[in-house]
Amino acid sequence: MRIGIIGAGQLGQMLGLAARDLGLEVCFLDPSPTPPAACCGPVVQRPFDDPDALADMAASCDVITYEFENVPVAALQKVESSVSVHPPADALRHAQDRLDEKRLFEELDVPLPGYRAVDTRADLVAAATELGLPLIVKTRRLGYDGKGQFVVRTSDDIDAAWRSLRGEALIAEQWVPFDFEVSSIGVRDARGNVRIYPLTRNVHRNGILHTSRSPVDAPELAELAAAAMHKLLDHLNYVGVLALELFVIENRLLANEFAPRVHNSGHWTIEGAVTSQFENHLRAIAGLPLGSTESCGHAGMLNLIGEIPAAARELDEGTLHDYGKQPRPGRKLGHITVTAEHAEQCDALLDIIDQTVTQSTPASGTGP
Ligand code: AMP
Repeated sequence: MRIGIIGAGQLGQMLGLAARDLGLEVCFLDPSPTPPAACCGPVVQRPFDDPDALADMAASCDVITYEFENVPVAALQKVESSVSVHPPADALRHAQDRLDEKRLFEELDVPLPGYRAVDTRADLVAAATELGLPLIVKTRRLGYDGKGQFVVRTSDDIDAAWRSLRGEALIAEQWVPFDFEVSSIGVRDARGNVRIYPLTRNVHRNGILHTSRSPVDAPELAELAAAAMHKLLDHLNYVGVLALELFVIENRLLANEFAPRVHNSGHWTIEGAVTSQFENHLRAIAGLPLGSTESCGHAGMLNLIGEIPAAARELDEGTLHDYGKQPRPGRKLGHITVTAEHAEQCDALLDIIDQTVTQSTPASGTGP
């Protein structure tokens, strides 16, 4: 079976490596001249919405998937008529627009922070009055890793927020004084079977994921997250892996956003779960039985942003994944996963590796 993957970044690379183990052939579409996934299969170097390249991919592949969110929905919908596309273009449509995404959470009764659509400065002033401060203003489209966001702490910040983001369709949402952040990663096959990985606790720095730890010892939170995940997957008639990011506040969960793809906060599953998120995504879209999402003990993941310091290559614990990308401030270049039998061992190991690696990274390498 041949799988066409739109996007050939590190997620494409990890999908490609999992495909090799499953005996699946992969090919990619990506405009970059040297994408990380090129080591796993042929890459057609064209824009993501290039009609000819997509038509060729549809003709030569059994199924098409995507590894990032900014694929034009119309281009996907076009190929859907000639080849299976998983996850469905409709899931991507919701995920690309924060307003649509929040309306979907509401429709499905998934709790979320208060929000307002903001098209004018007056809308922003009204949102501040109605929702209270602080507020976080975000672009509706094309925001990622904390980009396109502005925190309005006092009414004096409103003008600066408006000047910085005007011209884009926006939303304003309540600032959540969360206890911590988690993500739930689920997978659904075409027959409607669903499996969900243990909850992952995430720490962000400058809006970018810094560390992940799983499992989280909070069965009641895992149950709430699983209920939200089932609603989303079933409603969207979803096939593949979906990641749902949530805020934990006083034992409640508030949905932040979802990604219709394999996710950075699920990288620990390569070493830390019976079946990785990458393998399960491929299994789901290729019509193979889903693998177990159980974890094997405890796992932690540290992102390597901006550069891969020498210290990261000299560790005697943990597994380094180097995506082979050129260093650039704020760029995700790799990650390290640690595993341990007990939670305390895993926490300690992740802390040590974080200190060793982060201390040796220049501060300029960690900013967005
Ligand atoms: P996002 O791009 O929406 O995932 O935001 C990136 C990060 O910014 C999140 O993981 C949070 O750490 C923080 N953040 C986003 N929205 C909020 C919010 N409403 N309240 C508090 N922190 C937020």
